Amino acid sequence: MKTQANDIAPDSTRAAPLVDPFARAITYLRVSVTDRCDFRCVYCMAEDMTFLPKADVLSLEELDRLCSAFVGLGVRKLRLTGGEPLVRRNVMSLIRGLGRHLKTGDLDELTLTTNGSQLIRFADELVDAGVRRINVSIDTLDPDKFLAVTRWGKIDKVMAGLEAAKRAGLAIKINTVALRDVNVGELDRMIAWCGDQGFDMTIIEVMPMGDIGEQRVDQYYPLSMVRADLRKRWTLDETDYQTGGPARYFTVRETGQRLGFITPLTHNFCEACNRVRLTCTGTLFMCLGQEDAADLRAPLRASESDEKLVAAIREAITRKPKGHDFVIDRKGESGGVSRHMSVTGG
Ligand code: SAM
Ligand code: SF4
Repeated sequence: MKTQANDIAPDSTRAAPLVDPFARAITYLRVSVTDRCDFRCVYCMAEDMTFLPKADVLSLEELDRLCSAFVGLGVRKLRLTGGEPLVRRNVMSLIRGLGRHLKTGDLDELTLTTNGSQLIRFADELVDAGVRRINVSIDTLDPDKFLAVTRWGKIDKVMAGLEAAKRAGLAIKINTVALRDVNVGELDRMIAWCGDQGFDMTIIEVMPMGDIGEQRVDQYYPLSMVRADLRKRWTLDETDYQTGGPARYFTVRETGQRLGFITPLTHNFCEACNRVRLTCTGTLFMCLGQEDAADLRAPLRASESDEKLVAAIREAITRKPKGHDFVIDRKGESGGVSRHMSVTGG
């Protein structure tokens, strides 16, 4: 029997869930739906980026079929990211389509990470499609610094997008990369602002991914130092809150909001990793911080049935490594990867 594109894999292929060699169940897929973006954040991209050739990029229908195959194999959470997911033409048709897996109960969550620039247009439609919460990346509230960090971004537009998202009923978490000499001195203000707005927040260590035309060590600021400093002014209560991600969460007693720390450099959380990442060209990376990858585009296109695709996914999961080897210190950086975060999807 042939499987239609858009259908999830037939029962025979989805019988066994995905479990990697370290007994970690893979239940979370992140998909970079485009590596293009309307910003050029200094830690993410070089000023003049070379993007993946358009001819290699999967269609939205193909992305749907790939995501659906993963859902058929036990993936319970899908995050669309990029690049900027909301600049991909007609992306809402993909999001609406994937929303059907929420209705059937095969998927627990469909979400996205966005720079917020397009939220004014899309917030209501996202809610209609079944999205309930989103991550929005903002590294500074200062308009001049915001322009300097993003090179092209306008903070007013992002703020208006956040208002639209709030009005639409989306729960919002702010992602902030800790950047030496840029925003470390501003984190108090951002925590207070998140408290006022009812946003959770996650602070992230910069990771050595892709050539950005400057030294990572000049951007890197260890979160062990950030946390020690924040504790002087904020009461950070331990929590066992988990989002299936690598963040360790605290509740800020003074604001009541959650504050997470993602510390791939100072403390590696790979032992609990439950995710894999798909690029917009159908390449599956089993680890954000390793070069090994599996091509899923060829088996996807080889036939209308998902059999070859499911076999390729299963084979890839057997190669999921134990973890990344990122290091940034005064001697420089090592263990980084050549591709930019926008390719694999942050
Ligand atoms: N464009 C969307 C956005 O900015 O939210 C989604 C894609 S972006 C690559 C996803 C996340 O990765 C953002 O929170 C961004 O700050 C983060 N990021 C990008 N490059 C990074 C790096 N080298 N180290 C750590 N985080 C990075
Ligand atoms: Fe674009 Fe997001 Fe990368 Fe900034 S972090 S350049 S918004 S993909």
